[in-house]
Amino acid sequence: MAEPLFLQSQMHEKIWGGNRLKTEFGYDIPSRTTGEYWAISAHPNGVSIVKNGLYKGVPLDQLYAEHRELFGQSKSPVFPLLTKILDANDWLSVQVHPDDKYALEHEGELGKTECWYVISADEGAEIIYGHNARSKEELRDLIASEKWDRLLTRIPVKAGDFFYVPSGTMHAIGKGIMILETQQSSDTTYRVYDFDRKDDKGQKRELHIEASIDVLTIGAPANSTPVSLALENIESTLLVSSSFFAVYKWEVKGSVKMRQTAPYLLLSVLDGEGGITVDKKTYPLKKGDHFILPSDVKTWELTGSLTIIASHPNEH
Ligand code: ZN
Repeated sequence: MAEPLFLQSQMHEKIWGGNRLKTEFGYDIPSRTTGEYWAISAHPNGVSIVKNGLYKGVPLDQLYAEHRELFGQSKSPVFPLLTKILDANDWLSVQVHPDDKYALEHEGELGKTECWYVISADEGAEIIYGHNARSKEELRDLIASEKWDRLLTRIPVKAGDFFYVPSGTMHAIGKGIMILETQQSSDTTYRVYDFDRKDDKGQKRELHIEASIDVLTIGAPANSTPVSLALENIESTLLVSSSFFAVYKWEVKGSVKMRQTAPYLLLSVLDGEGGITVDKKTYPLKKGDHFILPSDVKTWELTGSLTIIASHPNEH
């Protein structure tokens, strides 16, 4: 029987984390510095577990390895995407991620192109998105002389904003922002600057200046331009379609029948409640639920008042 795969996933504590994964989403969190919920993940640093149906209790990496038919017989050797919700109670480090080629060579895993849907942002919240150096030499000089204000590009953000962050982009999520991140399944980060912070043991986190300079691209990042389509009972916005993934926002009011056009879909309910009917069985949906619609789910019906972020990999 075709069924959605609901997931139970892991929290990650971070120096910059907060408690809004509990206060906003109702998740159990281990501490008041919880930064990330790896909501849909087969990455070894935090694997999701199926929590319903035939595959109840099976880790997503194992399911992907043993039942590739659920994932469109994908050729990707690892489950390619990772969906996270982040609570930035303070600035994340200013960082950059390598592309696939550099990451496979130096880290033995995928590179990391990511994108952010802003769930909420405090008044005045900002991100760092890109830098102002016009050459590698200038980049190296501005980093060495710690001229961060001159180097880094700050942008104000608000709820509903979207940013595409290709590998090689200088970036940091700012204080007071919650985002849903869709990314390649990778955990490689090169830190350029960490605001000279120390952890509770008085230690600064490691920086990776040489690797960062290797992988940082020169030139302003090109954000995507979301395109919305209003249909009966649903507004569907294509936030980005790149060579790694496509990401959509669906705003459902009422009832809408849909069909699978990608090999499979990753879905996250960011607001509202309702249900999804698959094979005549209705599963309740509420804010904070994350699930996969595998390849054998060909059609479904969404009902209620729901804001959903949906994504699928684009194989390249
Ligand atoms: Zn990042």
